[in-house]
Amino acid sequence: MTDQVSMPRSPWIDAEMEGLVGAVDHLTSSAERELRKDPGVERTGALLGPVKVVHAYWLAGMSCDGCTVAVTGATAPSVEDLLLGRIPGVPRVVLHHPVTSVESGEEFMRNYELAAEGNLNAPYVIIWEGSIPNEALAEETGGYWCAMGSETVPKPIPTVNWLKRMAPGAAAVIAIGTCATWGGIPAAYGNPTGSMSVMDFLGEDYLSALGLPVINVPGCSPVVDNFTETVNAVLLFLNGLGPLPEFDELGRPAWLFKETVHQQCVRGGYYEEGIFAHEYGQKECLVEIGCWGPVVQCNITKRGAINHVGGCMNTGGVCIGCTMPGFPDRFAPFYKRSPGAGLSSTASRTTGSFIRPLRRLTMQFQNREPLWDRDGHVPSGWGQVPEPGPLKKVTHFFYEKLQFQNAEIPGRTKPEEKYKHGYEVPGARPGQTGAAPTHSGMSPKRPKKGS
Ligand code: SF4
Repeated sequence: MTDQVSMPRSPWIDAEMEGLVGAVDHLTSSAERELRKDPGVERTGALLGPVKVVHAYWLAGMSCDGCTVAVTGATAPSVEDLLLGRIPGVPRVVLHHPVTSVESGEEFMRNYELAAEGNLNAPYVIIWEGSIPNEALAEETGGYWCAMGSETVPKPIPTVNWLKRMAPGAAAVIAIGTCATWGGIPAAYGNPTGSMSVMDFLGEDYLSALGLPVINVPGCSPVVDNFTETVNAVLLFLNGLGPLPEFDELGRPAWLFKETVHQQCVRGGYYEEGIFAHEYGQKECLVEIGCWGPVVQCNITKRGAINHVGGCMNTGGVCIGCTMPGFPDRFAPFYKRSPGAGLSSTASRTTGSFIRPLRRLTMQFQNREPLWDRDGHVPSGWGQVPEPGPLKKVTHFFYEKLQFQNAEIPGRTKPEEKYKHGYEVPGARPGQTGAAPTHSGMSPKRPKKGS
């Protein structure tokens, strides 16, 4: 047996944590503790702004809990930043989560009752994970699909009933993950649950107490910083310290979902030059083995999965469209080339076959110091560097003509700049204070023509 070594906790951290969120207590609800501690507006929490504390009610429908797991890895901002009120201007978040909350049973459900009854004395947001099943279908056989808590005569309460009761009073309803935003996998062809998204369930007339329709942060699981950043932006707005974030027509944070995967992909250069992977593990563009990136709105290639690390195409996987409303049916079968990809990849291949050789030729010249061309020798100790042949030199001669067309060639070539004792700065004569130092009169040599 090896001895367990643990670092002592800092008393300062314990005191700070307890001051903010109270001592861990499994026998009371955290919403009641908040009320007892600071019943009025003088709560501890946000450093700025009138709203100090906001409750976040996590509700789950047809979910695998993947979004919950993913969110624990958020870094910008992190969940800890939000729960401890570390971000100036952002109210401290009191999270009620069926998986991560320490209280359970009646004490846990009391949190939800307080919000549904309007007795929270603080604003709250609802975060819904998973799709919403049609409970009427389950009731036909006396069952239920998803439930949380029970009525006096033990009967599970469908989770969707909590949403119905709490949504009108919520400052915002945020759907996290593709199941919540668009129905996702539980709503795919052949599902028996009649699953739908939060938006489909609440309808187009739904507005939160703040006047917001459902906010959608899709992804399976989503890029988690997309979620915490959106929550952060909404809370700043709630506190009157930020503008209303920009959302697109489907309620997605526009600044995060406006562009396609392809527009931000690390393999985009290969696509543009018409070079494609034919099996997994190759570094080129994956469009011919099933990537849907050119038509999928997501920023995972730019932002990574967690803390700027990972992300589908960054790590060798194709985009299967998991952020899109049509997922999964409209992107199936996965790993098969999409019909549109054949057309666009043929076009890239055709243009790439002309452009690539020209770029390689230019690269060969740009990969040389001007001095090496003057000396006609590359002093590399690593190996013999081949000299460009006559055809390449002629081609480059004309290329250089085009390059400097209507532009000045570097170096001092104009007669008025070639003074006997050097050059003058306009408005200052040599010898005067402020005049530029004179040079030896040498002007840099131009590279030999055609070299
Ligand atoms: Fe576009 Fe996909 Fe190719 Fe990346 S791998 S360049 S997203 S098609």
